[in-house]
Amino acid sequence: MAADFVPVNVPQIGPEDREALAACVESGWIGAEGPQVAAFERAVADWCGRRHGVAVSNGSAALDAAVAALRLAPGDKVILPTFTIVSCAAAIVRAGLVPVAVDCDPETWTIDVAQAEAAAEDPRVRAIMPVHIYGLPCDMAALGALAERRGLKVVEDAAEAHGVTCHGRRCGGFGDLSTFSFYPNKLVTTGEGGMILTDDDALAERCRSLRNLCFGPRRFVHEELGWNLRMSSLQAALGLSQLRRAEAFLARKRAIGALYDALLADAPHIRRPLPEANGGRSSYWVYGVVLDDAFPLDADAVIARLADAGIGARPFFWPMHEQPVFRRMGLFDGVRLPVAERIARRGLYLPGGLGSSDDDFRRAAAALRAILESPTR
Ligand SMILES: *Cc1c(COP(=O)(O)O)cnc(C)c1O
Repeated sequence: MAADFVPVNVPQIGPEDREALAACVESGWIGAEGPQVAAFERAVADWCGRRHGVAVSNGSAALDAAVAALRLAPGDKVILPTFTIVSCAAAIVRAGLVPVAVDCDPETWTIDVAQAEAAAEDPRVRAIMPVHIYGLPCDMAALGALAERRGLKVVEDAAEAHGVTCHGRRCGGFGDLSTFSFYPNKLVTTGEGGMILTDDDALAERCRSLRNLCFGPRRFVHEELGWNLRMSSLQAALGLSQLRRAEAFLARKRAIGALYDALLADAPHIRRPLPEANGGRSSYWVYGVVLDDAFPLDADAVIARLADAGIGARPFFWPMHEQPVFRRMGLFDGVRLPVAERIARRGLYLPGGLGSSDDDFRRAAAALRAILESPTR
């Protein structure tokens, strides 16, 4: 990578993080048993107004444990947005459940509520997994009302909306269970890490058990199979240190979003991300743009051109209903969800790391504009 290449994400690891990690090593707590893990669980739960936090090894594991904790019957169906990361559908499939993918809204890129309502008519649907997308919340008021009407369980995936509020409540504070990832590109990072939040004592206990191999009261005797999904004290210590700066990180992300908005306001051929929708203000966790149909290049071609110009960029999610792995399992047979199919091919996101500078973002915006203005070179 050239020295002046602008990576798509650079986390902000500061001196306070290094001190927190050094202090953790010094304390002797390096496994999952240390007070750092319990303190991080408490801090994230308090941040989101929740009773319980269960720290796990990553956000995908959080989804696996959350879905398994619901104890739905094999073959029960779970609604999710097709426009999301594979972890969401994988958690449903691995629990022996059937994912029902619905399309996203063309402007917010979050789950289409009307389509979720239609899908919930199926009596085998027992749960819904709303996913906030790229820093913008999905409409948890409408989805919560749907779940209430139909008696559906709700697993809220808040990995992309740390700190964002929806109708006045923090994302991660909705549903029976909610999940976070603390991967390095997430707003608050623990390197690798995740968390499940819930207000339900029994669900919290079940998630703790699933996280730790489902040890019975007599150690090494198991009534059920769990996993080792434990978070280490070192990760939790980093998380605590990062969480103290979460509001500053959020303000910085929004400033980056505003900077891109200003730099790209009159750029041709793109749709920019909405600053607010669904009862919340975007954190611009990533700054995504969608190329219009008149533009001759697709997202992959634009990403390649940006790379040539020294700018990192990533394509949008590939829809769950178009994933070869699920199609081979006989899932999503004949399903067409045109909005997600289109933005998967036309959408990309620009550098947005907390460790990058405004100059980096100016260069990224200028490089994108140059491509939009002369796609044929
Ligand atoms: C990042 C992410 C995950 C997965 O988190 P990992 O920690 O990478 O396993 C899950 N859901 C969403 C929406 C994400 O963005």
